[in-house]
Amino acid sequence: MRKYRIALIPGDGIGPEVTNAVRRVLDQIAQRFGHTFQYDELLAGGIAIDATGEPLPEATVAACRKSDAVFLGAVGGPQWDHLPGDRRPEQALLGLRSQLGLYANLRPAILFDPLASACPLHPAIAADGMDIMFARELTGGIYFGERGRRSGPLGLEAFDTEAYSVTEIERIGRIAFDLAGRRRGHVTSVDKANILESSRLWRSTMQRLADDYPDVALDHLYVDNASMQLIRRPASFDVIVTSNMFGDILSDEAAMLTGSIGMLPSASLGRPGQPGMYEPIHGSAPDIAGQDSANPLASILSAAMLLRLSLDLPEEAAAVEQAVSRVLADGLRTADIQDKQAESSQTIVGTRAMTEAVCACLAMTE
Ligand code: NAD
Repeated sequence: MRKYRIALIPGDGIGPEVTNAVRRVLDQIAQRFGHTFQYDELLAGGIAIDATGEPLPEATVAACRKSDAVFLGAVGGPQWDHLPGDRRPEQALLGLRSQLGLYANLRPAILFDPLASACPLHPAIAADGMDIMFARELTGGIYFGERGRRSGPLGLEAFDTEAYSVTEIERIGRIAFDLAGRRRGHVTSVDKANILESSRLWRSTMQRLADDYPDVALDHLYVDNASMQLIRRPASFDVIVTSNMFGDILSDEAAMLTGSIGMLPSASLGRPGQPGMYEPIHGSAPDIAGQDSANPLASILSAAMLLRLSLDLPEEAAAVEQAVSRVLADGLRTADIQDKQAESSQTIVGTRAMTEAVCACLAMTE
């Protein structure tokens, strides 16, 4: 039996609701497997701006550094949209990623069998399934590059800069090859090497790394083609490795193929021994906040990744994943994953009831 320290950052909108779901599920895991989870609830995002004037207070970063792992709900909302870019809630995300050195973002996009009908693709394509692991570079590229406004030949212009070093490309590349080695042995590297110099360095670096992984096949796709192939033949992808911005966009596209953005978990990892950060890929969904209608499964599946990757508790992680599969197989659905054609075989539930169903499943298999 071990004691683990977990930083919980509920944030804004539906963030607190899905964070409560994670806490409930972790408590159930603690009870079943005899662990102790000690939680530190921390401020970040809009709620932190209101309380302290800062989107990411120093105390939050310090507490995250002392934890074994961090879970973040979501940040942002219309009430903070008028603030200048560097004062907005979303700065908390970029700040946490850079200050905790989280350079690798892993986003599994899995189409669960019971949700095949929620997939917007042609049934013949959905029938082949989808199990893709995105490895997105998280602390470099255009989101962190030099930016600004200046006077250009046509008047005011704005610019953002995409820059990647070999070191940055290699470290995310190695994570992708290692993951593929434990999966189906196939890495697809996505870039825009026909246009961008940073992509040409990305491609040649990936190609060189491939020599160290003889059991993994590597292919390359331009990002525009990748966005088409994801819809045409999603089953053919195993691990997709790509830059910060391309990964942001393509993984949201893949999220839709799984039925809902409310199904996709993520892990952000840095150097071994550093706490990883786990979060659903969706935002704070202000349109449904406080209504007990958010899908908590992306967050609960993020907690499973936390158990496996940061706490090295694979059995506990698998128990959570199986409980999620089970409640879906039993026909439980939040509104976002409801199949309007098959209403009679489904029970539509809210955030809390879905969470309790997962917990009941975990308790049942004790
Ligand atoms: P969003 O992901 O919050 O919502 C997009 C749509 O998906 C909305 O219709 C929403 O209701 C729905 N949705 C999202 N999560 C859901 C869930 N768990 N269950 C059911 N439906 C769900 O994206 P947005 O509307 O573009 O952004 C809203 C706010 O969130 C903005 O302030 C944005 O900056 C912020 N944001 C934060 C993060 C983060 O904290 N990681 C990520 C993206 C956006």
